[in-house]
Amino acid sequence: MPVLFLGHGNPMNAIEENEFVQGFRQIAHVLPKPQAILCVSAHWETRGTLVTAMEHPQTIHDFGGFPQALYEVEYPAPGSPELAKETQQAIHKTKVDLTNTWGLDHGAWSVIKHLYPDADVPVVQMSLDYQLSPQYHFELASQLSPLRNKGVLIIGSGNMVHNLRLVAWNKMNESGFGYDWALEALDKMKKRMQEGDMHSLIHYEQQGKDFQMAIPTPEHYLPLLYALSLKGKNETISFFNDQTIAGSLAMTSVKIQK
Ligand code: ZN
Repeated sequence: MPVLFLGHGNPMNAIEENEFVQGFRQIAHVLPKPQAILCVSAHWETRGTLVTAMEHPQTIHDFGGFPQALYEVEYPAPGSPELAKETQQAIHKTKVDLTNTWGLDHGAWSVIKHLYPDADVPVVQMSLDYQLSPQYHFELASQLSPLRNKGVLIIGSGNMVHNLRLVAWNKMNESGFGYDWALEALDKMKKRMQEGDMHSLIHYEQQGKDFQMAIPTPEHYLPLLYALSLKGKNETISFFNDQTIAGSLAMTSVKIQK
């Protein structure tokens, strides 16, 4: 299976119609239909690494101040206790615990619902352990590789550029609007991905002011490292939804495939 990093952006993308939603739909059409999805979302940070193991994960509305319609969205994809167990067994780098207390947060359902609107592909989430370094996350992620051969679509969901403090809320719907530092950081990230310079991408904290402003906190960036870590030697990286919005967010999404 290919690997995806999806820029999820505004939770309203779950119920709005726009170019990004169309991009998500299109990407599902060019992928083989997965047996299951393993999603690493920016919105599930924990102490230790957890994997959801319930049969029926709940739809979690983990945001505030949005229209009622967004709280009414349910994404009833089944879970997969089998995939949860396989994920646990695949990772030796750290201890992985199974849990029944999470579900699907909006980092997962607000985008996966556009890929598979019928909710007919089981979804399992894996958390981000906030105690681990980017390098450690990258190494841990590489151990998920065997799952790809079992038809599992691994999705990292975050945003490559994500600075909420500097968001131009009045330009949320103006695609392509990006501050200079945001465009600069995004451009550098894409170049380094294409060049295979994973070292710089892992050590993003040492890449200067643009990167620091693009990644003020790690959680929306780390899911990208999960995807990149799984790139095989003969695989190529391509981009879609490659736009900045609201000045300080990038919707740029990544497909890794032979
Ligand atoms: Zn988010």
